[in-house]
Amino acid sequence: MQYRTMPAGGDRLSALGFGTMRLPLKEKKIDEERATRLIRDAIDAGINYIDTAVPYHNGESESFLGRALADGYRERVFLATKLPPWSVYSRGDMDRLLAAQLAKLRTDYIDYYLIHSLTRQSWERMRDLGVIEFLEDAKAKGLIRHIGFSFHDGTEAFREVVDAHSWDFCQIQYNILDEYHQAGTAGLEYAADRGLGIIIMEPLRGGNLARDVPDEVHAIEAGATVRRTPAEWALRWVWNRPEVTVVLSGMNDEAQVRENIRTAEDALAGSLTEEELGMMAQVRDVYRARMLVNCTGCGYCMPCPFGVDIPGCFAHYNNYGLFGKNPAFHYYIGQMVGIMEKESYAGLCRRCGRCLEACPQHLPIPDLLQDVSRTFEGPLFALLRRALKHLKVLYPHWTHLKNRRYTSRKTKEA
Ligand code: SF4
Ligand code: SF4
Repeated sequence: MQYRTMPAGGDRLSALGFGTMRLPLKEKKIDEERATRLIRDAIDAGINYIDTAVPYHNGESESFLGRALADGYRERVFLATKLPPWSVYSRGDMDRLLAAQLAKLRTDYIDYYLIHSLTRQSWERMRDLGVIEFLEDAKAKGLIRHIGFSFHDGTEAFREVVDAHSWDFCQIQYNILDEYHQAGTAGLEYAADRGLGIIIMEPLRGGNLARDVPDEVHAIEAGATVRRTPAEWALRWVWNRPEVTVVLSGMNDEAQVRENIRTAEDALAGSLTEEELGMMAQVRDVYRARMLVNCTGCGYCMPCPFGVDIPGCFAHYNNYGLFGKNPAFHYYIGQMVGIMEKESYAGLCRRCGRCLEACPQHLPIPDLLQDVSRTFEGPLFALLRRALKHLKVLYPHWTHLKNRRYTSRKTKEA
């Protein structure tokens, strides 16, 4: 296994990390026996960075991992999990969530603790609720070793979050299609220049760069001097960056684990030749030609006074062009209907025209948003939006009740 050094603290982390959001299933639940074997075999083969989070596998991933890492496996890995901003309404919630995570993971400390899936909006809310004080406090108590954040917004917002604290590391989405999207290459270099370790998620864009690969891509890759699968080329392209510390892969079968471990072995920074990088640029162009909007995700058009997440809407619309409606719709609902923060879907556009001048690509933003709205915001979207509005009213009350029960239980125990 290839190991790379985390700048803060000097941990030697396996270049391949195990993401636990797509574990093997049996009757729609984690196949505990097989998943445990998969993770333990991966650790025996040299993987030492394991990533989980509260919502993975409907909340079961952390508890499962606590059991899977028994028998001495916990001590052999660096464990990463995340604080879910959408469940946090007060500083007390942060403390309770961390305590529950430690209990589920059956450990006294988390090696790498992240604020989950930050956007500018969720960052500002968490900052105002005192998340930095909470993280520093937990670190001082030895409950967490390194603090960081995972991120899904534009480059400008990314720079703001990086500059807001002396983070140890960050986790960003990065692959051949995201050079100019979300944090992008500019964000990757910005964070690395400031000493942050970089964990990469979605190196295969949710597996899409390995599945249903267009014939043109196969034809381009067939011309390379070495035979490799599309997944291997895409992973090597990410590992080629010296700024990258760990690449996460949500692995769910034995062959995939074996292939990724073998690839990670010699996918060193700077190991791709000029010719191979040129070939990957051609692959990227094939995918880019399928994009529906030439939006670079720069974010200059933001903020929209009516709350539209303009680059986010176009990113989902492009995913629709690239990979089809189902996966794109799923993510559009997740982000735009306001599950985590405020609503930001295309249909909120009031055609005020304020964004038009700011766009360096001179995109007809309101017209394009209308196309996005027509594509994604049908009757099912409207229904889900209404249901979520009701849930959002009820959820804080439910959380408050749950917290009161937790506090009174702890008081009795004390
Ligand atoms: S035109 Fe639409 S997207 Fe652009 S700023 Fe106005 S409301 Fe927002
Ligand atoms: S719409 Fe234009 S300004 Fe807005 S993110 Fe895309 S390219 Fe940048």
